[in-house]
Amino acid sequence: LQVKPQKICVCVRKRPLNKQEVIKKEIDVVSIPGNGALLVHEPKQKVDLTKYLDNQVFHFDFSFNETATNDLVYNFTAKPLVQSIFEGGMATCFAYGQTGSGKTHTMGGDFTGRQQNSAKGIYAMAAQDVFTHLNHKRYANLELSAYVSFFEIYNGKVYDLLNEKTKLRVLEDDRQQVQIVGLEEVYVSKAEEVIKMIQQGSACRTSGQTSANANSSRSHAILQIVLRRNDRAATLHGKFSLVDLAGNERGIDVSSNDRSTLVETAEINRSLLALKECIRSLGMNSDHIPFRLCTLTKVLRDSFIGEKSRTCMIAMVSPGMASCEYTVNTLRYDASVHES
Ligand code: ADP
Ligand code: MG
Repeated sequence: LQVKPQKICVCVRKRPLNKQEVIKKEIDVVSIPGNGALLVHEPKQKVDLTKYLDNQVFHFDFSFNETATNDLVYNFTAKPLVQSIFEGGMATCFAYGQTGSGKTHTMGGDFTGRQQNSAKGIYAMAAQDVFTHLNHKRYANLELSAYVSFFEIYNGKVYDLLNEKTKLRVLEDDRQQVQIVGLEEVYVSKAEEVIKMIQQGSACRTSGQTSANANSSRSHAILQIVLRRNDRAATLHGKFSLVDLAGNERGIDVSSNDRSTLVETAEINRSLLALKECIRSLGMNSDHIPFRLCTLTKVLRDSFIGEKSRTCMIAMVSPGMASCEYTVNTLRYDASVHES
C-alpha cells in the first residue's frame, strides 16, 4: 500500500463503545459513512418536547470507524511520513482528543497483546518502518543512524521520559534554533530497542507524583525518531515527532475552583490553539510561523518550516452521547486545521 504524503493530512478515528458505556446503555451518536465524512447525531428536544436528531456533518481526509485497527490507521497516516524523513524532511503526527477517546491506544498501543499487530501502536510501527528503510539499499549510501528521544510537556515544562522525568530547559539561539538542553537522545540499532524505550518511557510517564504531573492526560508526550548522518558532527538529516497530546476536555469544563487546575487548563488550551496556528502557517507556506507561542510549538519549530515538512493530525472521538459536547468540540478543532 502506497499513500502519497500530503503536506497536511487531517483525519478522525472513532473508538468503539467500551464495556461501561455498553452497560450504561449509552447511545452511539457518531457514524462514519466513509470517504472522510463523519456524522454526529445529537438527540435534542424542541420546546414542545418533541424529540429530534440534530445532525452535523464533518469532512476530513480520512475517517476511521470503530472497526479500524491501529494497523489500518497507521497505513493512511504516519506510514507515508516515514519516507519523508529519509528524504530530509521533518514529519509530525498528532493524536488529538478528549481523555479516554483513544489517543494513547493509537500512538502507544497496547503492549500487553504484543503478538497481534493490531495491538501495536503508531510509535512501534513507525520505528519498524524506519529500520526497514535504513536497511534498504536505496538509502544505504546516505549512511544514516537512528536515535530516539522521549519527553513530555506539562504546564509548559519539559520532562525527559528516558531520564527519570528530569526537568529540562528549552533554549533558543540567535539563529532561532531551539534546543532542549540535556535531552537524552539514544542511538538505536533495531526496532525492538525503540519499543523497549517506549515501554520504559510510558511507564515513567504514568508513575510517580513527585516533580511532574500526577495525571498523564494533562501532558503532551513526544516521541522523536531522529536520523543523523554518520559524519563527525552527526548532522541532522530528518526527524519524526509523534505526539500524544493532552486531553482537550477542560476547554469546556472550566468549573474548577482549584487554582492549579485552572493554570493547567489555561496552558493546555493555549498550546492547542498555538499548535493550530502553526499548522495553518505551515499549510500556507508562511514565512512567519508563530512557534514562540508555547513550549509545544517551540520544541516542534523545525517541523513547521521548510518545503519538506509534513504533518498529520488524527482526532480521536468517543462514540457515546455523554461525550457529545466534547466530540463536537474536537471535530470543530480538527475541521479548522483541515481548512488550512
Ligand atoms: P486517551 O489516551 O485518549 O485518554 P486511551 O487510549 O487511554 O485514551 O483509551 C481509553 C480506553 O479505550 C483504553 O482502555 C483503550 O484501550 C480503549 N480504546 C481506545 N481506542 C480504542 C479502539 N480503537 N479500539 C478498542 N479500544 C480502544
Ligand atoms: Mg492517554
